[in-house]
Amino acid sequence: MKKDFTPTLLDLGPLQIYLARHFGFCYGVENAIEIAFRTVDENPGKRIFLLSEMIHNPQVNADLQSHGVQFMQDNYGKQLISFDELTADDIVIIPAFGTTLELEKKLNDLGIQTEKYNTTCPFVEKVWNRSEQIAKKNYTIIIHGKPKHEETRATFSHASANAPSVVVKDMQQTIELSKYITGEKSSEQFSEEFKGQYSENFDPAKDLERIGVVNQTTMLASDTQAIADYLKQVMIEKYKLTTANVDERFADTRDTLCYATLENQQAVSGMLESDADLAIVVGGYNSSNTSHLVELCEEKLPTYFISSEEKIISVKEILNYNFHTKKEILTSDYLPNKKPVKVLITSGASCPDALVEGVIKKLAAFSSNIINSEDLIKRFE
Ligand code: SF4
Repeated sequence: MKKDFTPTLLDLGPLQIYLARHFGFCYGVENAIEIAFRTVDENPGKRIFLLSEMIHNPQVNADLQSHGVQFMQDNYGKQLISFDELTADDIVIIPAFGTTLELEKKLNDLGIQTEKYNTTCPFVEKVWNRSEQIAKKNYTIIIHGKPKHEETRATFSHASANAPSVVVKDMQQTIELSKYITGEKSSEQFSEEFKGQYSENFDPAKDLERIGVVNQTTMLASDTQAIADYLKQVMIEKYKLTTANVDERFADTRDTLCYATLENQQAVSGMLESDADLAIVVGGYNSSNTSHLVELCEEKLPTYFISSEEKIISVKEILNYNFHTKKEILTSDYLPNKKPVKVLITSGASCPDALVEGVIKKLAAFSSNIINSEDLIKRFE
């Protein structure tokens, strides 16, 4: 739990790398990968399936597939392998994002034990526990998350087993939801506007009288805070509350982002105070936490979101992912013509550190008079 978020400077001479103080693999991802590979080792000859991608990193997923693990669903819940093909002898691993109660039941009904091969991150379970606690106090659960993301679907399933629940994907949807609290919008509009994002029999006229907000663990901390603050204010105004009695209508659920999301984002904010020329963010293109790091960097610098060093085509060109348009694009002249070039580098919670190292090495190879790694290491000794 670091307090100092200034980046580490790797001064290679003509190239200066500012490396985020906290980046890359988090506890939950390491734990999930370890369980998955251990499962492969301990079960030769057995069929091993993963409910969906282990984590949002193509290299890690490809590695698992090369060890014979098969993915049952894609990231959006589309079935790739039918449940009918499973037998009680098969092993099904639940990924770090967790899964829905419905899918868990389906597997258990087939005789497949899910307990032993469950890699759900404890920080995701913490969100489920928090929703259960507030549900017991009769609050409706508002989940700030990406409606189609595995983790949000899992959290929604767990939350809605205990209380009326609704997902909001961003501030815009939060503002629209608040209009059902204030009565500006009628209940009839709700079913269409929040289609697929609310629990069965959700009644906006009565189910939004007492609310609490939990999050997908990898959202942008500032968005999460703004959304909770906004809804709290709406409740204060609607019910003429004060900060002293606001908990009659609004549950305090502040800490449902995970530590890795927070630290990676804080480290990026610390890094952005340096005088860098550009930022490179490494991670899977469908990774939520990585895209938020990109979002933060973009506010200040030209930012390139890449999945590996292979995307750095040359000193002139880089293939990078525009997560707004969801397209990979080719950008020319991404490195400024100056010396030294100062580059911020970070990576998402599902990105192996080796990929970051690969990116640094690739950039270093473009310059002459680069300080070699042995000399650089000596400086840190
Ligand atoms: S990003 Fe956070 S919640 Fe997700 S797996 Fe890592 S530690 Fe767990």
